[in-house]
Amino acid sequence: MTEPLLKIEHLRIEFNTRRGTLVAVDDISFDVRPGEVFGIVGESGAGKTLTGLAIIGLLDPPGRIGAGRIFLNTQRIDKLPYHQMRKIRGKKIGMIFQDPLTSLNPLYSVGKQLIETILTHSEMGTHEARQRAITLLDEVGIPAADKRIDHYPHQFSGGMRQRVVIALALCVNPSLIIADEPTTALDVSIQAQIIALLKRLCTNHDTAVILITHDMGVIAEISDRVAVMYAGRLVEIGTVHDVIKTPKHPYAKGLMGSIPSLHTRADQLMQIEGAMPRLMEIPPGCAFHPRCPYSFDRCRQERPDLIDTKPSKVACWLFKNEDESGNT
Ligand code: SF4
Repeated sequence: MTEPLLKIEHLRIEFNTRRGTLVAVDDISFDVRPGEVFGIVGESGAGKTLTGLAIIGLLDPPGRIGAGRIFLNTQRIDKLPYHQMRKIRGKKIGMIFQDPLTSLNPLYSVGKQLIETILTHSEMGTHEARQRAITLLDEVGIPAADKRIDHYPHQFSGGMRQRVVIALALCVNPSLIIADEPTTALDVSIQAQIIALLKRLCTNHDTAVILITHDMGVIAEISDRVAVMYAGRLVEIGTVHDVIKTPKHPYAKGLMGSIPSLHTRADQLMQIEGAMPRLMEIPPGCAFHPRCPYSFDRCRQERPDLIDTKPSKVACWLFKNEDESGNT
């Protein structure tokens, strides 16, 4: 089996507050293989974005990694000094945020930003870097890339700006891109194009992607595997095929029920009653129990851990570990 590109072990993200320590991400472990699209899905407040920020070393204080380890290509990266992590961010891990303007400087042409990034992280000269920037802009679907390279971010539409950001993320051939809600700010008609583009480019460049989103439909489009997060914990993890075809965790089932299809009317979509608990109000036992239609006594008292229920892993008292139960 291929060695993982990224390995997260027992990651815990905490915030020290006047009321004590709040745990926003609690003991999560997963790995990402080279070239795969790994989705992390859940509602706002689940801890998805914090997980992405922890991987790239951009957690804002008072947020911090309280426990756990992160490895990229077997190198431990969660304790690196700032300047070393900065190099890794530029060269090995690219980022795409929800708002393209987070990644683009409005004062510089897109070409200048691409060329500077290429020059910083490669041995290329200026002329070669400009040619590479034009090729990338062309590859992400910017028409007349040789002219548009000298335009400023405000001269591009939202969808075109996100294409430029994808070019920026890819320009040094990173082995991993973290894309946090890359299409949420875009017009619905543009979203599918950007997702398809991301998938195609990452396949062509053999780049792995961690795709962070609240939208199970987007995950279904392009991911190979998916981790479902709820209240800072992983509640189900498996291949997209398994989790979408046969979601096990009641929360994953609820998320699946909210994907529209050609045969579903909007008023037939399943909604999960209630809301994700706030950090200081995470209930004991299974954090999902106040919203879960299947909850029973044990759910209110004991927290379920992720167990292997083959083919996926799930954290729910409705399931037994396949290896222990002997069932298939
Ligand atoms: Fe629902 Fe209980 Fe499973 Fe939690 S452990 S998801 S409350 S059945």
